[in-house]
Amino acid sequence: MFEGVLIRAYGGFYYVKKGDEIWECTLRGKFRLGKGSAALVGDRVRVTPVRGNTGRIDEVLPRKTELFRPPVANIDQAVIVFAVQNPEPNLPLLDRFLVLAENAGVSPVVCLNKADLMSGRREHEWLRLYRKIGYPTVVTSTKTGDGIDELRQLLVGKTSVFAGPSGVGKSSLLNAVQPGLELKTGEISSKLKRGKHTTRHVELLPLAAGGFVVDSPGFSSLDLPEMEREELGYYFPEFAGFTADCKFNGCLHHHEPHCAVKKAVERGFVDKERYQNYLTFLDEVMQQERRY
Ligand code: GDP
Ligand code: ZN
Repeated sequence: MFEGVLIRAYGGFYYVKKGDEIWECTLRGKFRLGKGSAALVGDRVRVTPVRGNTGRIDEVLPRKTELFRPPVANIDQAVIVFAVQNPEPNLPLLDRFLVLAENAGVSPVVCLNKADLMSGRREHEWLRLYRKIGYPTVVTSTKTGDGIDELRQLLVGKTSVFAGPSGVGKSSLLNAVQPGLELKTGEISSKLKRGKHTTRHVELLPLAAGGFVVDSPGFSSLDLPEMEREELGYYFPEFAGFTADCKFNGCLHHHEPHCAVKKAVERGFVDKERYQNYLTFLDEVMQQERRY
C-alpha cells in the first residue's frame, strides 16, 4: 500500500501520482457512493498495487479543503489574477474572489498582471491596500517576464488554482511559469473559454519544482456561498482588529450603534471601498438567507 495524489479521473479510472509514477487505479466501491465520500481530484489516497502500474484506491484521506466548482480537494491557494488594463480591474470583483477563497479556507494571492501596461499611481495604491490587509501580492508581466520567478516561487510545493476574469492572462501566466506545460495549456486555454455548462474533467498539472496547478479557473460561480450573516465579517481580515470594540455581540457593522468597524472606516483605518463591498455582500447574504 502507498500514498499518492489523485490527479485525474477519467472513464472510470483514477490516476494517482506517486513521485514520478502515474498509477491507473480503480476505486473501491464505497467511495463511489455518497457525495461526501466520493473521491475528488486533489485527494490524497492510499493505493493497493494490483499489477504493473495499476492499483486500487482503498482509502481517501481526510481533506483540508474542498471546492465544488471546480470539484477539487486540498487546494492550498488561489492566485487571483487581475490586469492593470484590458480588462480594467474591478475591485468589487477582486473582493468577491477574496471572500470566496477565505470561505473555502484557501489562501489567496493577489496577482496584478500586464504590469507592462502600468501607467499611474492607482495600481500602487491598490497594491498597498491589499498588502496592508496581509494578502501576498505579486506584480507580473508575461510580456517582459517581470514577477514570473516570484510567482513560480509562490507555487512551489502547493496546489494552486488560478482565478480571475477572462482575458487577464491566466493561461499566459501558466505558460510563463512552466513552459513545459505548453501543450496542456493550449488545452487549458480552450477549456477556460468553454461555456460554464459544459461538463468537464478537472485535472491537476504537476509543476517541475513540486506542487500542482488546477487546469481550470477557480470559482466559476461568483454567487457568494451559503453562510450566516455574521460570518462575512471574518472574511475581511482587516476588520479583526476592531470587532472586539463593537458594542453588540454579533455586530454586522451596518446599522448598529457604537460599531468600531464603522468608526475605523471613518478614521481611514479600514478602506472605504472595501467596506462598501462588504455592505453589498452582506445584503446578498441576507437575501440568500431569506430564500432558504
Ligand atoms: P485568460 O483568459 O485569463 O486565460 O487570459 P489569456 O492568457 O488568454 O490572455 C488574454 C490576453 O492578454 C492575450 O491576448 C494575452 O496575450 C494578453 N496578455 C497576457 N499576459 C499579458 C501581459 O502580461 N501583458 C500584456 N500586455 N498582455 C498580456
Ligand atoms: Zn461593528
